[in-house]
Amino acid sequence: MKIQYLGTAAAEGWPGIFCNCESCKEARRLGGKNIRTRSQAVVDDRLLIDFPPDTYAHMLDYGLNMPAIRTLIVTHSHQDHWYPEELMLRRKGFAVDIAGTLDIYGNDAVGRSLEQFLKEVSETASNRPQVAFHELKEFCSYSADGYTVTPLKAAHNPLENCFIYIIEKDGKRLLYGNDTGEFPEETWEFMKGIRLDLASLDCTMQRLQMKTGHMGLANDVNVADRLRRIGCADENTKFILTHFSHNGGWLHEEMERQAAKYGFCVAYDGMTAEV
Ligand SMILES: [Zn+2]
Ligand SMILES: [Zn+2]
Ligand SMILES: [Zn+2]
Repeated sequence: MKIQYLGTAAAEGWPGIFCNCESCKEARRLGGKNIRTRSQAVVDDRLLIDFPPDTYAHMLDYGLNMPAIRTLIVTHSHQDHWYPEELMLRRKGFAVDIAGTLDIYGNDAVGRSLEQFLKEVSETASNRPQVAFHELKEFCSYSADGYTVTPLKAAHNPLENCFIYIIEKDGKRLLYGNDTGEFPEETWEFMKGIRLDLASLDCTMQRLQMKTGHMGLANDVNVADRLRRIGCADENTKFILTHFSHNGGWLHEEMERQAAKYGFCVAYDGMTAEV
């Protein structure tokens, strides 16, 4: 399995769209891996994870073949992960030779917002976007485009049932784990003994330790230790940190230096990892 990180920032991007903090000024000055767009990844160039406002930029910058994408899994309904307005363009008049239906998998909040959006579109347009929604329940496994996808409960927005995901194919397994604090106990319980080849973890707050919602490096160290203790990770498991906020304060190079102390890799926009 191959995962490509298309966007590795938190909600406002890095530099933040309206921000003048030192970390954003420095990112603007240095460019390169310090420029981070909103969170998105793609598995094997076909299974898209999350749908931020930067999806179009990812198509242009990384050759993401959006017209060919048929499967989208969504972690939660925050705008940096779920921007349904863009789906308006997946219909006749805006796209020619549409490659069938886009299957979207996510929680009830994502389903409700999509339904509301489609309702608004149908009031003014004669044809609907070619999309179908499939609501998922935590700790159940689903088949999506040949992948086994299992949503787990995240510790994120208490107002909705946010997911992190285990994604499996051909005996390989990865955890897509951002927009969560250290996991809820039910998630730990469920994960016992499920071996991961790759664990992708939230490091939004970098140098700051978080109680819940997101994580910093110290939280990632705790999560990696616990994953090892319960048989989910061993010396061959790759750990990759992503979803960074300028409020965390470490530009890419410093983030890499800090993460290397624990054997973690640091994602950047466009980075690919294989298991
Ligand atoms: Zn986010
Ligand atoms: Zn800033
Ligand atoms: Zn979020």
